[in-house]
Amino acid sequence: MLNPIKRPRISVPDGDGPPRYPVKDACGRLRSVIYHGHKVECSCCGRSFSLFLWSPYMTALCPNCLSMERYRLLCRFLVEETDFGTQPIRMLDVAPTYAFQEFCRRFPMVDYLSIDLQSDLAMKHMDLTALDLESDMFDFLTCYHVLEHIDDDLAAARELYRVMKPGGWGIIQVPILIKKTVQRHELSEAEAERILKFDDHVRGYGKDFPELLAKAGFQVEVVEYAGAFNEDERKRYGIDAREDLHVCRKPAGEQN
Ligand SMILES: [Zn+2]
Repeated sequence: MLNPIKRPRISVPDGDGPPRYPVKDACGRLRSVIYHGHKVECSCCGRSFSLFLWSPYMTALCPNCLSMERYRLLCRFLVEETDFGTQPIRMLDVAPTYAFQEFCRRFPMVDYLSIDLQSDLAMKHMDLTALDLESDMFDFLTCYHVLEHIDDDLAAARELYRVMKPGGWGIIQVPILIKKTVQRHELSEAEAERILKFDDHVRGYGKDFPELLAKAGFQVEVVEYAGAFNEDERKRYGIDAREDLHVCRKPAGEQN
């Protein structure tokens, strides 16, 4: 869902975790040599470089794993602020990215499953509003920049809640663009272009986004993690100060 452009990809399923991408890996290693340095640091692959790469989406990409700001923030948060990877967990990654998938692979105790409607990167294809998964399955889940593509975002959030284990948690992110959430059909064409920016976004979320997650059943905490870094650190780690994390929990004892 994050990458609507269909490109041929060579994957080698190894029966143990997500598919491997030898060509992508080799290109990453080559770029790592070209952009060798110690000025910036990627929290996803753990390597340092002379710079982050420019991308047409106005994000700064890691030369090796091609991580974006939001995934570098996520990986840093998981490593620095949580016990991620230190005990056995089953996790769900909705709309996977190569960078985060490879980050998760580094933790043998993380039993990783990725899903998407159609991405070749995903281990299983399914509709987020009707998941073909049992209830109460996952200790941890991530869902990054997906709900803005889905007509019934509440149904999708409820499905995420359903498959999360009681006592489990997750991080659910959308682009927060305005004060109050607005649907595409409520906007003029010019407003939609200015606010939503992308043609496949069916709404623009506002600061009231946690209300949707709460309606789905989650206990929501908005963590201003990126704001804790000074400017030099934000530049070094390539993170966006405006990205607050929506940490969602399913209370223990709340079974489906
Ligand atoms: Zn990286």
